[in-house]
Amino acid sequence: MPHQHATHCPLCGFRLEGTQWEGRQRPRCQACGFVYFFNPASAAAGLVLDASGGRVLLVRRRIEPHKGCWAFPAGYQEIDEEPPAAVRREVREETGLEVEVQSLVDVVWVGDDPRKPANVIIYLCRAGEGEPQAASDVSEVAWFPLSDLPLDMGFGNRELIQRVLGQE
Ligand SMILES: [Zn+2]
Repeated sequence: MPHQHATHCPLCGFRLEGTQWEGRQRPRCQACGFVYFFNPASAAAGLVLDASGGRVLLVRRRIEPHKGCWAFPAGYQEIDEEPPAAVRREVREETGLEVEVQSLVDVVWVGDDPRKPANVIIYLCRAGEGEPQAASDVSEVAWFPLSDLPLDMGFGNRELIQRVLGQE
């Protein structure tokens, strides 16, 4: 986790020093007093169904973590973006499809991301017209019948679909 090795203040550039602050050792700027809190990232993912509701849209990941596995289209939330807007943008960037966000499915903690742990907000989405095209951080995109999901899915997405949609 690279942020834990920060040595200089992101606000004023002065040296950070470890300080006991609100229950933990945290880097604190010796000039302006800024305290560096290491927080998880926030990401959004889409459990995207087709118009019939029988197929789910999955992407094959080109980057770690879970590189090479199938997973929901997903990505980090921008600082000025509400979570449903983040999931619409990520699905568009990775698959070219426009989706309607329907409901909140779950919030999943991903603690094994080498970049930074993240809270991933998962939304049930319905896809609009059009054929998906792989782009951005994915090498492949495909529709899978809910009754025939790939075994090599990352982030526990397969178990989540089975739990939420009751598929075996
Ligand atoms: Zn500072």
